[in-house]
This record gives sequence, structure tokens and C-alpha cells, in this order.
Amino acid sequence: MKYIGAHVSASGGVENAPLNASKIGANTFALFTKNQRQWVAPPLTEKSIEKFKENCSNFGFSLDKILPHDSYLINLGHPQSEGLEKSRNAFLDEMRRCEQLGLKLLNFHPGSSLKEITTEECLKRIAESINWALSQTKGVTAVIENTAGQGSNVGNRFEEIRYIIDRIEDKSRVGVCIDTCHSLAAGYDLQTPEACKKTFEEFDKVIGLDYLRAMHINDSKKGLGSKVDRHENIGIGTIGEDSFQWIMSNSIFDEIPLILETPDETLWGEEIARLKSYF
Ligand SMILES: [Zn+2]
Ligand SMILES: [Zn+2]
Repeated sequence: MKYIGAHVSASGGVENAPLNASKIGANTFALFTKNQRQWVAPPLTEKSIEKFKENCSNFGFSLDKILPHDSYLINLGHPQSEGLEKSRNAFLDEMRRCEQLGLKLLNFHPGSSLKEITTEECLKRIAESINWALSQTKGVTAVIENTAGQGSNVGNRFEEIRYIIDRIEDKSRVGVCIDTCHSLAAGYDLQTPEACKKTFEEFDKVIGLDYLRAMHINDSKKGLGSKVDRHENIGIGTIGEDSFQWIMSNSIFDEIPLILETPDETLWGEEIARLKSYF
């Protein structure tokens, strides 16, 4: 079974996200459980939590397939202690929100060295941050997203993600989300079905397909190895329709959320319908 959705708006409250996802024909979705550009947010109300669960159940969304995304401000590999502490506390709050909502996954970008520490040191900090948050929560898996390798962001190479996973104490609660646009930008070719096959063989060799817990389905405005993160709508970027067709018809992507983060939201309904036609 394939689960396809988009990163929908939760404006007006998290309980609105399942309604927005249902309107575009999705059977899963991604959301922010708080304003993604602010450090602190008011706690979720009992009413909002209850309504979220009720709406998910009414519209047929299973909570374990939904993929919340954390705030863009968080840097779990921050080189300075103040920034690191702030990030860790915010990440823990995100995990607790997931627990409250009954969600099982939390998608996040690994972090950034800000060119003040080595990549290795940054990756070590990220692993420590994840261990710290996991030890204080239950049932939520930390899902590391691969990056495009823009600026000083770490986690664009599969080896770097593996390096983090190797340092996680509870390996049952760590996973990976592959963003197709980020992969291409990082130099992992996805421009033909043959290239896709090779890239996921590489993923399996370095990280292991068991850790693949989600996908972000985006075409790319920029080319292979550009290190520039610019999402494009499906089929009109440098990845192309054939590769998305390959992904949709491949069983390694069954049972995990496949989430569109494409720029023109008015096309989401159409994109989901087209992707569904490939399996
Ligand atoms: Zn992301
Ligand atoms: Zn993404």
C-alpha cells in the first residue's frame, strides 16, 4: 500500500491539517505542529488534540503514517552551547507535541556546522541531541532528512546520516526521510529509473533500506550536484516524470509516507492523482 500526501497547512490549528489533506485526495500528510518560524509556541490545547485525532479518524488517516516536520530554526548540531541548548529544548517540545497528538514520526533536518566546527563534530552533536530527546519521550521516531548540502548544512551524504545512526542508542527509534530534490542536488542521480535504482542500492548499502521511514517527493529546479535546494512540481524539473513513476511502482516505498513539498499547491490534487495512477 502506498501513502501519498502533501505538506498541508495547519493554520487555525493542527485539527485543520487532516481536512486540508482530505481535500486533495491524500491518504497521508505532513504538517507543522507549531509555527515553524518561531522558537516558542503556546502548548496544544486539549480541544485541539482531541479534534485532530477525531478528524484523522473520520477522514481515514492513520496516525502512524503522518509525517510532522519540525521548526526550521532548530539546529541539533549547533556549534555554540546557547544555540544548541535552545535547539534541543525546542526539539524536545516538538517530540512531546507528537506524543500528545499520537504521532509516531518526527521529520527534521540534521543541522549545520555554521563553519565553526568540523562536519564530524557537528554530526556527533546531532546524535547526542537525538539521544537526549529520545530518552525523555516514548513512541516517536526521529526521522533524519537528507539535505541538499547547501551552505554548512550537514547530512547530504548517506555516510553522514549513517554516522549519526551509528551513534543512536535506541536504533528502533531512528529513521531516514529521503527528499528526492535534496538527493539530486547533493549529487545522487535520480534522473532516470536506472539512476534511481543505483541511488537506492547505494542507500541500502550505506544506510540500509530498513531505516527508510519516509520520502519527500519533489522535482528539482536545479541540476545534479548543484547543492542548491529548489523544489519543483512533479515532472517539470530535472528529475522528471519517469523517475517518479519508478518510485510509485516500487515496493520499497510501500507503507511509508510519501509527501509532496512542491511549490505550486494548486497542483497537489492533480499530482497525487497522477502518482496514484502509477501503482
Ligand atoms: Zn525538510
Ligand atoms: Zn523535504
